Amino acid sequence: MAEQKQFQAESERLLDLMVNSIYTHKEIFLRELISNASDALDKYHLYALEHQIAPSDLAITIEPDLDKRTLTIRDNGIGMSEQELEENLGTIAKSGSLAFKEQLKKQKEDNKDQENQNEVDIIGQFGVGFYSAFMVAKEVTVLTRRVDEEQAYQWHSDGKAGYTIEPTDYEGHGTTIILTLKDDDENEKYSEYLNTWQIQDLIKKYSDYIRYPIQMEVERQQPIEQVGEQKDEPVQYETIKELKTLNSMVPLWKRPKSEITQEEFDQYYQSHFNDFTKPLSTIFFNVEGNVSFNALLYIPSKRPENFYSRYYKPGLQLFSRSVMIENNCESLLPDYLRFVKGLVDSQDLSLNISREMLQHDHQLKLIRSRIEKKVLAELKSMKEKDPESYAKFWNAFGLDLKFEVYNSYGASKDKLQDLLMFHYSESDDLISLKDFVALLPEDRKEIFYASGNDETDISKLPIVTKLKSKNIPVLLLTDEIDEFVLRTIDQYDEHHFVNAAQGDLNLDSEEEKQLLKEQNDENKDLLEFMKESLPQVSEVRLSSRLVDDPVMLVAGEEGMSFEMEKLFNRMAQQDNQEQPIPGMQAKRILEINPNAKVWAVLRTNFTSDKDKVKAISQVLYDQACLIAGFNLEDPIGFSRRVADLLG
Ligand code: ADP
Ligand code: MG
Repeated sequence: MAEQKQFQAESERLLDLMVNSIYTHKEIFLRELISNASDALDKYHLYALEHQIAPSDLAITIEPDLDKRTLTIRDNGIGMSEQELEENLGTIAKSGSLAFKEQLKKQKEDNKDQENQNEVDIIGQFGVGFYSAFMVAKEVTVLTRRVDEEQAYQWHSDGKAGYTIEPTDYEGHGTTIILTLKDDDENEKYSEYLNTWQIQDLIKKYSDYIRYPIQMEVERQQPIEQVGEQKDEPVQYETIKELKTLNSMVPLWKRPKSEITQEEFDQYYQSHFNDFTKPLSTIFFNVEGNVSFNALLYIPSKRPENFYSRYYKPGLQLFSRSVMIENNCESLLPDYLRFVKGLVDSQDLSLNISREMLQHDHQLKLIRSRIEKKVLAELKSMKEKDPESYAKFWNAFGLDLKFEVYNSYGASKDKLQDLLMFHYSESDDLISLKDFVALLPEDRKEIFYASGNDETDISKLPIVTKLKSKNIPVLLLTDEIDEFVLRTIDQYDEHHFVNAAQGDLNLDSEEEKQLLKEQNDENKDLLEFMKESLPQVSEVRLSSRLVDDPVMLVAGEEGMSFEMEKLFNRMAQQDNQEQPIPGMQAKRILEINPNAKVWAVLRTNFTSDKDKVKAISQVLYDQACLIAGFNLEDPIGFSRRVADLLG
């Protein structure tokens, strides 16, 4: 006896749900097993290509046995090693399984009174395929030999107690799955799954597009050929057995678009691309010309959990005449569209041409550029016609588009700038540059932006208050990359981007400017004294930038902004540089609101108590640093000075 192993805990709970399932479409187990067999054949095909073996007679066979009450599904695909048996059939690696269980439970409850009328195909959606066998089988035996291994193995389980794995003999490579069907009961006649007519129906219904032949031995009546004297007698028949291919083998993407339902597209996505949510959009098109191909592309509705890790595999599946030649072909997608899933099938790519060959490369480039155009057109139309979906998309993958604008040094800006979305001061929704420009007052040439960590904080910044008081909308930049993106775009529709916390904003009338200049001149000595007290700043000046707040820090007109300085310093820290990089500091200017109470206090004290002016200046500077999002250099000193001034 082989050692009994326990299923991993989550698998066990899931299996329990399967075994005791009230799921009405139990029949889908067959589709799941066939889809696994088809995947295994794909993998074998790729293996054969790599090892220069001619793959031949790839097929899936089905054998019902009424006497033994077994249904056998066999493939001559890649097979599984002992470890793979353990990993693939003993554990659930998918994050979707938990969600699946919850959905199943919920559905059970929802359907209590309705006899499962609205049951959707959740098993397919959640990709817990193999275990679905236990909906109809009381025992499952898997015999398998991996193509590159000597030893074959048998896996066996009743879906309850656990499973066993032991060595066995196996002819050839691939996998044979033997289901011993449950006993019939009043609810379900499991023996139906041994009926060849029933099986043929199920294959037509669920697996017709599988690209490998699904074969079964069927009986057929054939007239007996009559010779000589028997010629006038009634025709006689004999029963012959023959292997019949049950599916038409036309893959989904080779069928006319008009005949494919959205449900079929969604189903294909969910069962092939490791995502149990529906795609946000499906792009299906056909190109004839220099290089002809079909493409079936999907934009996922959420970001895969591993998207920013090295485990994420970008790329499209590449087929040549319906046969897969590469599983993740990265050259079919520009980097920034690496969230796109799907496949390309081209008859112009010959299997014999090695991928390195120039010709081939050129074709892939042509395909890639068509795909890029299509995806961008789809995003554009989604943005216009279905803003809600576009917001979802932006939330999931917007960052990649922004990075592309920046990384391409602006080369991609024309095609991408109208897809970018930003927070702004007038609403909680996101806005595009185009719509934002439309909000600007007639003669306003600049597009102002302010940066920070989240839009609520930014919207409270002194400078944003000021711009609002002038009825000028502001972009609120929440991502580190945003400012770099805007600087790369430089101008949109002849509107320059201007950091509202940098330089002179030119918001005032001539009179106001004149007044401010006079105030600055009048208080030249005081301002100079303050500057002397603050070695960190290059200038102290009165400003009309402030409405309610007494002070703020602004960066010099030229050069870096504070956000950029912070980013560079963080990067330097990551590189273990202890000192800030020289020159990587924005120029700091302290601006004071001439209408603030504290300004009057400073002026009074300037004649009587210079030490107090110095202390207040330092506190004001520290406050301005806090507002600008910098850490205080000396928090204890700050707190003492505040306490002294209060006391
Ligand atoms: P999925 O197909 O979504 O990965 P399944 O539960 O259907 O999930 O299958 C689990 C895993 O078991 C597969 O990913 C595959 O590695 C392995 N497997 C199942 N059936 C076969 C088969 N016939 N040949 C080779 N491997 C298989
Ligand atoms: Mg599967």
